[in-house]
Amino acid sequence: MLFSCPKCLGELIRSGSSYVCPSAHSYDTARSGYVNLLPPSGASVHGDNREMVAARRDFLNTGHYLPLANRISELAVKHIRKGARVIDVGCGEGYYTEIIEKALSDSGKDARFAAFDISKDAVRLAAGRCKNVTFAVASAYHVPASDGSFDAAINMFSPLAPEEMRRILNTGATFIIAFPAEEHLFGLKAAIYDTPYKNAPLPTELSGFRLLECERVRYEMELSTKEEIRALFMMTPYAYRTSAVGRERVLGLESLSTEADFYICVYEKVGE
Ligand SMILES: [Zn+2]
Repeated sequence: MLFSCPKCLGELIRSGSSYVCPSAHSYDTARSGYVNLLPPSGASVHGDNREMVAARRDFLNTGHYLPLANRISELAVKHIRKGARVIDVGCGEGYYTEIIEKALSDSGKDARFAAFDISKDAVRLAAGRCKNVTFAVASAYHVPASDGSFDAAINMFSPLAPEEMRRILNTGATFIIAFPAEEHLFGLKAAIYDTPYKNAPLPTELSGFRLLECERVRYEMELSTKEEIRALFMMTPYAYRTSAVGRERVLGLESLSTEADFYICVYEKVGE
């Protein structure tokens, strides 16, 4: 098991349909094949809700982000060594996880792959789509993994908890991060807002890591159905921030041309 007990970081051993640590903390596996490693916290809903998860799955399945997924896979194959223990942080519904895992395996690198997200709805879908990955419901701010237990990590647009990444990755580990660049989805924003703004550029410096390479992936997406436009809109934060007028305007569109614009940065963890 690539994950550890979230309470004591002890090793988790399979016992029937549960995982148990040496201190007898026990975690059930779901029928779809993931383990819930979030501490129980009442009835609060964690992470992206079911509607947002379904919208993202539908949009990603259209293939509009495939050029990004393919480039990430190439970089993973280039930088991640054979037999590495890899963790996908904030894996969502597993779209990128599946493509990257397959690319590593096709290249003969045979990684041991773990992935988690805080949204149970997302992890349920992810566990259904990739069988060679160990999935958990967990928080990026409290990763259920022991110190230095991973050789590589991937973060696709997920909140970044640098301290946890420094803790769970060993020295020399690869860390690949993708995040939106300045023009990302500008066409969509222009359809919603009277005065759309560009994303502020994010710093690429990351304490405890050395930047090996950083590139911008940028292309135009042509959305030609209302369903595609709706799925894209619903997977973005604009779905919650937009006024009724803006929402109606974008959901009424028959076609939309908008940018895909990302940075992909590859880091190496340096010694203490
Ligand atoms: Zn424990």
